Amino acid sequence: MTAVVLDQVTKVYDNGVLAVDDVSLRVDSGELLVLLGPSGCGKTTLLRIIAGLEEQTAGDVWLSGQIANELPPQKRNVAMVFQDGALYPHLTVRDNLAFPLHSDRTVDKLAVQDKVREMAHGLSIEQTLDRRPSMLSGGERQRVAMGRALIRGKPAVLLMDEPLASLDVSLRSGLRAEISALLRSLRITTVYVTHDQVEALSLADRIVVLRDGAVEDVGTPDRVYHDPRSAFVAAFLGSPPVNLAWATIWVINGDRVVLDFGGQHLDLAWTDPRSEPLTPYHGMSMIVGIRPEALTPWSAKTDGSRLCGRVSSLEYHGHEWMARLEVGFRPVDINEVRMRPQRRAMSNGAAGGRRGRKAAAAKAASPNGAVAGRRGRKAAAAAAGAADPPRHHGAHRGTHLLVRLDSPKGWASGQQVAVAVDVPNVYVFDGDGRRVDSPLV
Ligand code: ATP
Repeated sequence: MTAVVLDQVTKVYDNGVLAVDDVSLRVDSGELLVLLGPSGCGKTTLLRIIAGLEEQTAGDVWLSGQIANELPPQKRNVAMVFQDGALYPHLTVRDNLAFPLHSDRTVDKLAVQDKVREMAHGLSIEQTLDRRPSMLSGGERQRVAMGRALIRGKPAVLLMDEPLASLDVSLRSGLRAEISALLRSLRITTVYVTHDQVEALSLADRIVVLRDGAVEDVGTPDRVYHDPRSAFVAAFLGSPPVNLAWATIWVINGDRVVLDFGGQHLDLAWTDPRSEPLTPYHGMSMIVGIRPEALTPWSAKTDGSRLCGRVSSLEYHGHEWMARLEVGFRPVDINEVRMRPQRRAMSNGAAGGRRGRKAAAAKAASPNGAVAGRRGRKAAAAAAGAADPPRHHGAHRGTHLLVRLDSPKGWASGQQVAVAVDVPNVYVFDGDGRRVDSPLV
């Protein structure tokens, strides 16, 4: 069953800020859905709209199959946990936990005490019951906040707004695992907000990546990480981050597709399932993403594609080394790359959509509409303006390729090295950052 549905929800604040932009989502019963995105992307606003604490400007909210637009927060059967726990400072842990039960006249005093003890036991905070919040650690405070949210029974949906953000790193990972185990054992439908991609990847059943109030991608952690729908999603998930660089696409019909970085290139075999979707982009400047783990030191025994560069730094990270290679690629400034304008145009019915995009790209690549073969390639490239400056100029933040190494053996700063590229793990995005190489997208 679907616990929450957001249908084309938009929120514009009185000051004109567009905080949520046409968001449609569903949360299945028992699911842990994580809203992930940078500061200001609208995560908290969405959570508050579900809770009824903020009214949407347009669109509908459904809870447990009922439209909830007009329901006040107390009638939504929604529980909320905030970053700071928001406990009553003058009450003990016992009284904080018992507080939500006081409004329920059907629960007698003894039953309240039993429920408090049971909840405290479940959250391993029995020893804190007589303390006030100021006498608790950050982790204990968050446990009490969870207990208070859940003590009245299973809510239709539990909303958690960065509950671990104020805790230190070691405490965070322990409590994250506990929260995950608790929510899963109780099968509580949860919407969890964070800007921390590690938290999102480790907790979520599905992740929603938000950017500027709009949904950029939705999927399981594995899908969103390994098969991102946009350059922004690829860049937001992963530490160390994905390498992004501009490259020109050359389609050599029946032979291969070349990703040309200018001086260096990668080839996709014609039989590679990504070659066909890339043919309309012949001669165009595109964004190529390569995760650091797709690069390994080249050895004489290695087959396949490689890239070369000069080692500019080697960093020790304890469990691994991180190398930066100067490769001379044109870097991408992700802040300059946006899918939104085209999406808006699509919803207005103007030129957009995959077919429209492909047609436009094909037209740009070849005035007669045909994808160029070996002989027609140069002419088509000239027509596409492939030699022109790129449409998007990155703020040249360095032309480095990040490579993860088990050991820096054989590598030293200043040295020229080669890396093998696991080409199946290379992504191609159009100039707006939209993934175009995968037939699934
Ligand atoms: P953070 O991670 O920093 O908490 P967020 O992703 O939760 O950010 P929101 O708090 O939902 O983002 O804010 C989305 C946008 O709406 C931001 O530009 C913010 O400045 C703006 N905003 C939030 N609340 C209000 C308000 N009450 N009035 C006007 N603008 C607001």
